[in-house]
Amino acid sequence: MLALVAAAIAVATSAAASPRSPDSPPPAALSRADAAWAASLTRAAQVWASAHTAPTPADYRAQAEAFLDTLPGGDAVTIEWGDPEGHLGGVWIPGPPTIILNAQRLDGRVEATQDVLRHEIAHVHQNLALTASGLSLAQYTARLDALFDGDGVERSADAVAALLGATTLRYQSEFTPAQLDAAREILADRVP
Ligand SMILES: [Zn+2]
Repeated sequence: MLALVAAAIAVATSAAASPRSPDSPPPAALSRADAAWAASLTRAAQVWASAHTAPTPADYRAQAEAFLDTLPGGDAVTIEWGDPEGHLGGVWIPGPPTIILNAQRLDGRVEATQDVLRHEIAHVHQNLALTASGLSLAQYTARLDALFDGDGVERSADAVAALLGATTLRYQSEFTPAQLDAAREILADRVP
């Protein structure tokens, strides 16, 4: 079962600026002056490109990794940039401590990515509690469903995200004190 998050915000598909390769060298037949002129054009193009393509995907992904490290247990989690079945993010339950982020839909969108990570880290902690408890996935899911009135795996992950400061939640936006207590238990790798 792939537990998935889909943020409620509209996703604008921004065309990521593709890296620009330097122009190829001028033909040997060009005069020295022509070659110098061509080289200066190439440098100008490189300067323009570096000023107009920020943030680069590499910078953005490094930011996401750094933010994940600030979340509880996040330094033990790996980000896999791919496609979690069209959703913004996903974690396999049961599964490894890997958060799959949608490279195409999220790349360059730092704040949306941070909220997705706040939700997905909850699934990582759910996995740890599930493994340690010896419960079946059905038993564990039933426990969360009872606490969150259905869809407990996802709603409790949103409760964790809310505790961690998320502003965009997909499955539930307001929580009872008991549900927030359950979210704290999840962050502590315990079954609520
Ligand atoms: Zn989820």
